[in-house]
Amino acid sequence: MNRIIKKIAVLTSGGDAPGMNAAIRAVVRACVYHNIVPVGVYEGYKGLIEGKIREMNARSVANIIGLGGTFLKSARCLEFYHKEGREQAYNQCCEHDIDAMVVIGGDGSFTGAQLFEQEFNIPVIGIPGTIDNDIYGTDVTIGYDTALNTVIDAVDKIRDTATSHSRLFFIEVMGRNSGFIALNTGIGAGAEEILIPEAQRGTESLLASLERSHKAGKTSSIVLVAEGGKVGRSFDIADVVKEKLPDYEVKVTILGHIQRGGRPSCQDRVLATRLGVTAVEALLEGKKGVMVGMSHNKTTFVSLSTAITKQNQIDNHLLHVADIAST
Ligand code: ADP
Repeated sequence: MNRIIKKIAVLTSGGDAPGMNAAIRAVVRACVYHNIVPVGVYEGYKGLIEGKIREMNARSVANIIGLGGTFLKSARCLEFYHKEGREQAYNQCCEHDIDAMVVIGGDGSFTGAQLFEQEFNIPVIGIPGTIDNDIYGTDVTIGYDTALNTVIDAVDKIRDTATSHSRLFFIEVMGRNSGFIALNTGIGAGAEEILIPEAQRGTESLLASLERSHKAGKTSSIVLVAEGGKVGRSFDIADVVKEKLPDYEVKVTILGHIQRGGRPSCQDRVLATRLGVTAVEALLEGKKGVMVGMSHNKTTFVSLSTAITKQNQIDNHLLHVADIAST
């Protein structure tokens, strides 16, 4: 029998992403709408273990929809990897009469959530919040669209310098071993080459392409590189190019943490709001152990175990498009 849900906790965990605040707001407001008591857990699983738990109301989340980061804060929590840590978290749930939980985060957070639910039978629903878009079971994750726009903005600016000085820029972007940000911003910013772990083409192919571009009269170039080490760090790749193609003046820019911050785009705010409301309503309908995502512009559910174990695949057609558009 499903337990009666009177109080729902919400927390953010793992790397922050723009739109997490909008998701928290939606969870809290949906609870209020359905006469459920919402509680906010500060600092993710760490705060859950330490009892940093506060009751919320509709006004607690006023004016946060447009703010980046997460006002509940996020934290790494080594204790949660161990059953004893999760047991402490469960004791806090009992003490605060928490009946169910919404976890906003990435696949690490979902792994913890799944274990917690299995061990202590507290229903959990996950909301995908990560700029990397690397979670299976949703077309997009919260924060991804904002990050794309932030990256595009930065690459456009670098392009001005690349063009003015006839330079070749390697621009390294985030993606934790997935190339969604690099591929999409590479296409959007008109990059000459895009290096992503899903399509490892090797340095020879890059050198050949840059040589072709040079011969074709291109005086400046942008190469987008996905971080994560699988394609090599951009400084190392740049060193090889400098050596083999001395005609190019090569520069490297690592965009780093500017990609995570900033005000969420309208798309991320709407996505976060939809997923937040849907997560609460799903808990009230008796769903648990699932992640709520979007597929073809409809909310959809996938089990946490599937979301964790399967890979979100790059669309090969996009790679083909990128190749043709950069000719
Ligand atoms: P993300 O959710 O963005 O992937 P992390 O991988 O850092 O971020 O995970 C966030 C938190 O989730 C960790 O600090 C830890 O508390 C919890 N977590 C991650 N992986 C596990 C795991 N295998 N078992 C239990 N808890 C985990």
